Amino acid sequence: MRLEEIRQQLRAAGAKTCHEERVLRAWTQNVGLDTRHRKAEDFLPRAVRQLLPALTGQLDGLARLRSEHPGEDGSARLLVELADGQTVESVLLPRDGLCVSTQVGCAVGCLFCMTGQEGLLRQVGSAEIVAQVVLARRRRKVTRVVFMGMGEPSHNLDNVMEAIETLGTVAGIGHKNLVFSTVGDRRAFERLPQGPVKPALALSLHTTKAELRTKLLPKAPRIDPDELVDLGEHYARTTGYPIQYQWTLLAGINDSDEEIEGIIRLLKGKYAMMNFIPYNSNEGLGFERPSWERASQLAGRLHQSGILARLRNSAGQDVDGGCGQLRARATAADGT
Ligand code: SF4
Repeated sequence: MRLEEIRQQLRAAGAKTCHEERVLRAWTQNVGLDTRHRKAEDFLPRAVRQLLPALTGQLDGLARLRSEHPGEDGSARLLVELADGQTVESVLLPRDGLCVSTQVGCAVGCLFCMTGQEGLLRQVGSAEIVAQVVLARRRRKVTRVVFMGMGEPSHNLDNVMEAIETLGTVAGIGHKNLVFSTVGDRRAFERLPQGPVKPALALSLHTTKAELRTKLLPKAPRIDPDELVDLGEHYARTTGYPIQYQWTLLAGINDSDEEIEGIIRLLKGKYAMMNFIPYNSNEGLGFERPSWERASQLAGRLHQSGILARLRNSAGQDVDGGCGQLRARATAADGT
């Protein structure tokens, strides 16, 4: 379901823009829409108030918690069931963050990603994306949303941009605390700067070698790493937020000294930072995780060259592996 459909229902009942905003604010900030919470409704037209119980039921059904898997690092993986029974994963991150999914499955097919193995099953609607935030806010505070869960956001750009606009306005999340994560797609570079809410950008680079990138990310748009960094730099200068480059470290594949020299060549002097995420070997996709010592050494080399680099585990890694594993297990258990 799209947010626009919710707005249409409200407009059909006589709501003006200010009424739509009031209802969406109440929903996304969890102050309630039903009769137990009068404040948000007091100034709404009667027909809109009468619509609220049915609308509340509809909104509550958009994203339901199937299971929760807390991690040792303060994160928790949520398996979220959508209205049609499909499932996606959201991750509660430390420091009030939330990682949301934008597609059921993914068409990019990255070799090291569980989600990429099943292909794209369907898009996640803008209302379903926002509903993941609402669900998380019922459990804890959320002030930062990263679009790094299942799916490639630029392959569902209309829904993701609609969700970003709502999250950055009525849901009260700071624009630079909305992080659009992509393998790099020209449509995203063209459209994101035109939106009323401009998110920060995370670019999944993974290698500086065009040929290797094509192998690792078989269905990502063909943009060479050099051009990708140029496009990223332009976006960073437009928005005033640095680009966060993402790099899943795969032992013997993209953790060489040569790659580090390549990163230094590409990112030196750029408004950017590098996030190294050592691969989670539990995923069973035939890759190995480099040692923590090696990963620290690589991050250190970048630091010495004046490039900000962070080394991080993917959140909730101790619980159930990387993104897509909860869904894969639940699907296997359901036999669907
Ligand atoms: Fe899709 Fe991201 Fe997985 Fe690649 S890593 S297959 S883009 S979900």
